[in-house]
Amino acid sequence: MTEQDKEIKLVVVGSIGLDTIETPAERREDVLGGSVSYACAAASFFTTAGMVGVVGDDFPAAHRRVYERFGIDLAGLQQVPGRTFRWSGVYETDMNTRRTLSTELNVFADFSPDLPAHYRGSPFYFLANISPELQLHVLAQASNPLFVAADTMDLWIETARTPLLELIAKVNMLTLNDSEARQLTGEQNLVRAAERLLELGPDYIAVKKGEHGCILFSAAGICVIPAFPLAAFSDPTGAGDTFAGGFMGCLAREGAVRDASVRRALAYGSVVASFGVQAFGLDRLLALEPDEIEQRLDAFRRMTSIA
Ligand code: AMP
Repeated sequence: MTEQDKEIKLVVVGSIGLDTIETPAERREDVLGGSVSYACAAASFFTTAGMVGVVGDDFPAAHRRVYERFGIDLAGLQQVPGRTFRWSGVYETDMNTRRTLSTELNVFADFSPDLPAHYRGSPFYFLANISPELQLHVLAQASNPLFVAADTMDLWIETARTPLLELIAKVNMLTLNDSEARQLTGEQNLVRAAERLLELGPDYIAVKKGEHGCILFSAAGICVIPAFPLAAFSDPTGAGDTFAGGFMGCLAREGAVRDASVRRALAYGSVVASFGVQAFGLDRLLALEPDEIEQRLDAFRRMTSIA
């Protein structure tokens, strides 16, 4: 089967990075990361994901093979002259607070996300954290999207509010963390902040709360999804993207967006993210078996059911 024959159910666009990560226990250099890497790897447990991203000519062939092992479609992965995007960060002792030490945009600075022809008919899109102008550019290339989720961050709320509001009006779901929801709306109360965001157009607002999980707001009401409690974890980098990738992959597998499928996808997203943080980069996801996901989902069900 050629790349062109593969039916892409989910398109993911965002960053691909070589990360240097320091936790209280360990420091690792040039870890394969970026929002697209985490989201596509997580989604690959459920569906065929197509990656849209850019790397430089220094991008290790071994990292490309990692993507291939997940079965990610790489037709939208551009390799251009220059250095790959690099990011480094350090976690405090409690692993909740992270400081960015450096960001080198490199080839990511001139990224133009163009969808290969066989991505354009995909029903599901995850527009991970890149500028809202680029997210809009991707959306404009989608011929008949069924469900589009977009992530954002404080940088774009501060520097690109107008295109961000234009994007929000066009997507089905917006994911952002609690402080960003407050920053974007000026509302300190998260329920009111989500109500304001729903008024801007999306059907769903997913407010991420780090180790406390996620709250989903929609016309159907509020759904609270905890993070799976772990006694130990190694590296929280990319947890939000892993969660979103698992969520979108699961929805794409079901092929329909109903209240029940959205709730189930949220639970799968949370479970896959809990595996992701158990090792650096994609290491734990590379070793993950579908059975392990189902077993942890059963445990998650028992933990979250009331009477
Ligand atoms: P998260 O833990 O969800 O913030 O995601 C971490 C990932 O985002 C890392 O793997 C980085 O390579 C990537 N990243 C860090 N800063 C940026 C940025 N300004 N734009 C895009 N991706 C970034």
